[in-house]
Amino acid sequence: MLALHPAPLVDYALGVVRSLYLHVPFCPGVCPYCDFHKMRRNEGLVARYLDRLEREAHDLAERYPGPLDTVYFGGGTPSHLSDDEMARVTRLLEGTFGFPARLETTLEADPLTFTPERLRRFRDLGFDRLSIGLQSTQDAVLRFLGRVHDGKQGLQALAWALETGVRVNADVIAAVPGQDAALDLARVADTGVGHMSVYSLTIEPNTPFGLRGVRVDPEREADDFEATAPLLAAYGLRRYEVSNYARPGLEARHNLGAWRGGFYLGLGPSAASYLPEGGAYGTRLRNPPIRAWLEGAPPERDVLDAEGVVLERLLTGLRTREGVDLAELRAVTGLGPETTAPRWLDEALRHRLLALDGSQLRATDDGIARLDALLRAYVRST
Ligand code: SF4
Repeated sequence: MLALHPAPLVDYALGVVRSLYLHVPFCPGVCPYCDFHKMRRNEGLVARYLDRLEREAHDLAERYPGPLDTVYFGGGTPSHLSDDEMARVTRLLEGTFGFPARLETTLEADPLTFTPERLRRFRDLGFDRLSIGLQSTQDAVLRFLGRVHDGKQGLQALAWALETGVRVNADVIAAVPGQDAALDLARVADTGVGHMSVYSLTIEPNTPFGLRGVRVDPEREADDFEATAPLLAAYGLRRYEVSNYARPGLEARHNLGAWRGGFYLGLGPSAASYLPEGGAYGTRLRNPPIRAWLEGAPPERDVLDAEGVVLERLLTGLRTREGVDLAELRAVTGLGPETTAPRWLDEALRHRLLALDGSQLRATDDGIARLDALLRAYVRST
């Protein structure tokens, strides 16, 4: 089993809030598989969104002032904001928490929402990482997915992003009906990109694909998943999380912080936060969707208990190559899977789905391939 990058990737303290996720819900088109909180933009709605964001940022910064180690603009399509709107948001963060972040400042951007000049402006605003929503390089697949760009435009956009010199991620969707996933992965990895996120197409019931009865072939999904890691390893891209691959040192620090159980602030409609308040183990919060959020409706709150922390550390930590440090978990909560689900742990170790290295519990390659079932079994056994 590969260890994660041997040098510490991230030096942020997990006990304090040093990360921020900002949700921009506007998109140029609405993809039929998408289950995120998103919508088409109109000027009035964007103006109200920006005003509300301002109030929310000031409120949160009073309780959790910066500086920030990582900032992530996700969506939706954050690059669908205009230059002036983007500058207003970055000025807002600069005046509240400090911007850019000290370790990593990521912007999700879709092909057709930027030119090389615009990418340079993003870099000058302080973004040092771009995540490009490529999804596929094959026109028929992109049409099926309802994307507004074609394969050539996507690869051109990725090349422009790489030319800016900032760190770049490319998103790819696998297991799409009619797709040659290996061809997509090879074409994208051939660009020299240092990070790729590869997700299987999933059909959620409340999406247009779900309502139309679109199905993903489970065998095809398993085959694509199995083929991805060796294919990308040949390009120096190592799997460090179930769906994420990077050259050593180019892992996404913002996401690693959350997978390691770190606190983070969430701004914007439907954004999630995990904050050190409400009890010994902190509180998860989720903002309401945009209409209620614009009216100032409060977030949903879920105060974690010790068992909840163990569950969450397993759900997120076992997705990563580094796994979960059980000694650290015990020190924080007094619990671990050896007390909450001892039979589950024994069986997973015996079947080599999990491996214990000192106090570090990790999913093996077989465990990673069956992770959803493995974690469901944990939940059933507690
Ligand atoms: S661009 Fe992304 S967020 Fe927007 S609808 Fe498509 S998949 Fe969803």
